[in-house]
Amino acid sequence: MADTTPGLEYSPELAERLAQELEPLSAEELLSWAGENFGRQLCLTCSWQKQSSALVHMLSALGLRVDVIELDTQLLFRETYDTRDLLVERYGLNLVSPEIISVAEQHLQEGPNLWERDPDRCCQIRKVEPLERALAPYGAWISGVRRDQSPSRAGLKKIQWSERHNLWRIHPFADWSEKRVRAYLEVNEIPYNPLHDKGYPSIGCIPCTRPVRPGEDERAGRWAGSGKLECGIHLDGSNTERH
Ligand code: SF4
Repeated sequence: MADTTPGLEYSPELAERLAQELEPLSAEELLSWAGENFGRQLCLTCSWQKQSSALVHMLSALGLRVDVIELDTQLLFRETYDTRDLLVERYGLNLVSPEIISVAEQHLQEGPNLWERDPDRCCQIRKVEPLERALAPYGAWISGVRRDQSPSRAGLKKIQWSERHNLWRIHPFADWSEKRVRAYLEVNEIPYNPLHDKGYPSIGCIPCTRPVRPGEDERAGRWAGSGKLECGIHLDGSNTERH
């Protein structure tokens, strides 16, 4: 559980200054800075994709103990759960798993296969609301989003304030490419989700994820054909970026 020390009180001026000052920092330097300034107020969200593997390794190498919030929608691939179990064991992760209603309960309450009829509502129930509850005790949230993943993420800062979640968001890989993440995993021999080597550059729930074809965007396999681009867990008052 997070404590209340140390932390940084938000002001628009501080957010702007930090965004400028921290932009030149490497991912490791940014995480070290976050550890010094937020301590046990820090948390990390993991979807058990390649960025998750890289971040848990990097935090471990830096000697930083950070609670790991996982959003288990109960609709993830077997390979994703296997990757989670491997990383939890290897790095001794302290997992925080917010409660969500079962898929069977959702079927009863909302009708079958809500993801086919109203994926925004399904993501709201299975991702957005559980994450809001899970983030509440923390002062800063690390995630592995990158600017080059989609145009909607191009404006990410390495640190920014989230009005919606009332905490700081920290993005150590904001200026990393997929190639750089993969190289980091390879050089450091870090376990990662094997679906990345089977045509899935971006991995979410089974009903809403397909492999991408050559030349397609990294996130083209998420909610393909629905017009939906992101699940909304990063949508907040400070920007329009969605995850
Ligand atoms: S990604 Fe699909 S199945 Fe998963 S929560 Fe969102 S709509 Fe539901």
